[in-house]
Amino acid sequence: MLPYSRQYLDEDDIQAVIDVLRSDWITTGPMLDSFERDFAALVGSKEAVAVSSGTAALHSAMHAIGIKPGDEVIVSPITFAATVNCIVYQGGTPVFADVEEDTLLLNPEKAIKKVSDRTKAIISMDYGGRPCDYDALQKVADQFDLILVADACHSLGARYKKRDVGTLADLTTFSFHPVKHITTGEGGMITTESKAWADRIKKFRNHCIQKDFRQRAEQNTWKYEIHELGFNYRLTDIQCALGRSQLKKLPRWINRRREIARQYDEAFSEISSLKLLTGPSNVIHAYHLYVIRLILDRISCDRSVIYQELRNEGIGVNVHYIPVYLHPYYRKRFGIGPGLCPVAESVYEEILSLPIFPSMSADDVEKVIQTVRNIMGKYSV
Ligand SMILES: *Cc1c(COP(=O)(O)O)cnc(C)c1O
Repeated sequence: MLPYSRQYLDEDDIQAVIDVLRSDWITTGPMLDSFERDFAALVGSKEAVAVSSGTAALHSAMHAIGIKPGDEVIVSPITFAATVNCIVYQGGTPVFADVEEDTLLLNPEKAIKKVSDRTKAIISMDYGGRPCDYDALQKVADQFDLILVADACHSLGARYKKRDVGTLADLTTFSFHPVKHITTGEGGMITTESKAWADRIKKFRNHCIQKDFRQRAEQNTWKYEIHELGFNYRLTDIQCALGRSQLKKLPRWINRRREIARQYDEAFSEISSLKLLTGPSNVIHAYHLYVIRLILDRISCDRSVIYQELRNEGIGVNVHYIPVYLHPYYRKRFGIGPGLCPVAESVYEEILSLPIFPSMSADDVEKVIQTVRNIMGKYSV
């Protein structure tokens, strides 16, 4: 089965990990600083703080900006649950605003309508790898004095109006899960221009202990103080070394993803029962996902049939995402349900994510195209 995404590891990556295993520090050592420095340099941010997952990065961002019970945070429902859970971890309330139909990105106009006197922040999510309309979102944030947090777990390496993702919001979060652009097994990063927020997150990832183990060792003291509740969200030096090695290949991998997307665009624009996501051309799309939309009144079945047929042919399609608030937990806890975001709910019925990852061969790409063509042909009316 050709998965929708998978990691790419080569001998350099393996050697980088082995080198750390033979060194003195396998966690909270020199590789941590190096990975953070390399990452900040790549996206052009002042600060970068590594943590143990993309989810930890989101939680850390919510802690940094002080989200607490009673606070509301505006978020898109077309995202992975972690984008929403980070608000709930802090006791805050997620407030769902609908998406734009063409891109499935948070609609700034709809976000404005959800602002209340309890709203503290907006979390944007760059669905599929296309950056949101950050100028519009920043305007909303400025108008209502909100903090803008970008969940860029899909969009490492993407650009918006010649500016890099990682510098477009007050805080930006990334994931290094194996399906994402680069991997550390599990891992995440937060970028920001604010040293104060970066310092807060560095403490948060280490139980809110004021000094880390290495600092105490260097200062020859056991003493430390805890003033707030923290977590163990540290990323090991083993993972940081892998991340540094992977990061070097990112530009090449983004190019390959974009090349595959161009081939898909060309082939699928000719299939009359398919629609593609589209958006303004002022971005460099990072293509974490390649999403097709079924035009349901031009086929004789629903999405689940197409999904099953493609999987039977070895094409590991997936659906990103079930609108988050439709899951029983959020319905029950926040008293919400169907009808809240009509665009998200209706486009959700049409979407399928096709395989796209840098190590796909030309034959793999051709197989996906041919199989989609055949199956759509079979069900077109
Ligand atoms: C992957 C992902 C996350 C979570 O990242 P993990 O590293 O798996 O914790 C959060 N938000 C989005 C949009 C993601 O795709």
